[in-house]
Amino acid sequence: MTCLATPFSHLAVPLALTMALGPDMVPAGLMALALACAVLPDIDAVGLWLGIPYDHPFGHRGFTHSLPFAVALAGGGTLLAPAVEAQPLTAFGVLLVSAASHGLLDALTNGGLGIALFSPFSHRRYFLPWRVIEVSPLRPSALFSRRGLRVLRAEMRWVWGPCLAVALLGLALRGLAGPL
Ligand SMILES: [Zn+2]
Repeated sequence: MTCLATPFSHLAVPLALTMALGPDMVPAGLMALALACAVLPDIDAVGLWLGIPYDHPFGHRGFTHSLPFAVALAGGGTLLAPAVEAQPLTAFGVLLVSAASHGLLDALTNGGLGIALFSPFSHRRYFLPWRVIEVSPLRPSALFSRRGLRVLRAEMRWVWGPCLAVALLGLALRGLAGPL
């Protein structure tokens, strides 16, 4: 069974946001919430072991990978903004991008079923037009194979590379703006 972009690669988006926006806008607590939002959609993989079929609305890449779920997750996480000393609007934006990026990155993969991006309003599953990321094996041990290396190479190119570019751009812009 194959399914996901590797879980580590989902962390690239919140890490890039944190670097780009800086610690004043994204304090450590908010970064931790964003990291959680970026990987939480794969909680539906538990359903595979509970007998929920892959193509079920609550199956893998179903509801928890949708954009409405990302909005709800970001909204819930924003309630914790005061506790992590973040501005609520910033917290919502960072958490929304982190959560929504999960389903969108999975929609760039070249295997498995598509993503139910609009669940629960529609259970139709989608891929993006560019399926450039090699789908990842579900078993971590399978990453240490020839195919696993191809997966990692594709994720370096299409996930980590662009995220690093965003992070460096943000760092440069903050540098140009000077110390606050
Ligand atoms: Zn996923």
